[in-house]
Amino acid sequence: MASVNEMAISLRLLEENVTVFSYQLDDAFYQGIDQQEIKGGKVSATVTIKKVVDAYDVTLQQQGEIQIVCQRCLENMALPIDIVDHLVVKYGTDTTEETDELVVLRDNETFQIGWFLFEFAALTIPICPVHPEGECDPEMMAKLNEYAPNAEKESIDPRWEQLKSLINN
Ligand SMILES: [Zn+2]
Repeated sequence: MASVNEMAISLRLLEENVTVFSYQLDDAFYQGIDQQEIKGGKVSATVTIKKVVDAYDVTLQQQGEIQIVCQRCLENMALPIDIVDHLVVKYGTDTTEETDELVVLRDNETFQIGWFLFEFAALTIPICPVHPEGECDPEMMAKLNEYAPNAEKESIDPRWEQLKSLINN
């Protein structure tokens, strides 16, 4: 498996009008990036690059699961992903044109496929990911309860929040 930086490509060197790249992203891929959001994973990624008149139309598909940290027991948990994202990439000097969907590359700049795959996967992570009720690591939960023996943590449970708002109405 290529590392994130090895996945950069030079769009101008693509010879075909449509080029498809396939990658199997694994633990080493995510762990090779300096970040704390995604701890590992097993994701099949397909990147389709179409040349259009003055730009490149890029579709990034990802399917599989990533490992993230449960905010209740702090152990890893699997998050399934099945996403399709879209970008338009063009060459130019006016980076103020850039948006979430439009990437402007300088003359000799490569297109960082690996970074975009990582970023799009990271965007799917919920604000406060937790294991389903009862699936947290029991040892970790016992330790955490020992150090913070208050009821505060209960409010993290989204169902509890929902119940509270029902009562308050
Ligand atoms: Zn957990």
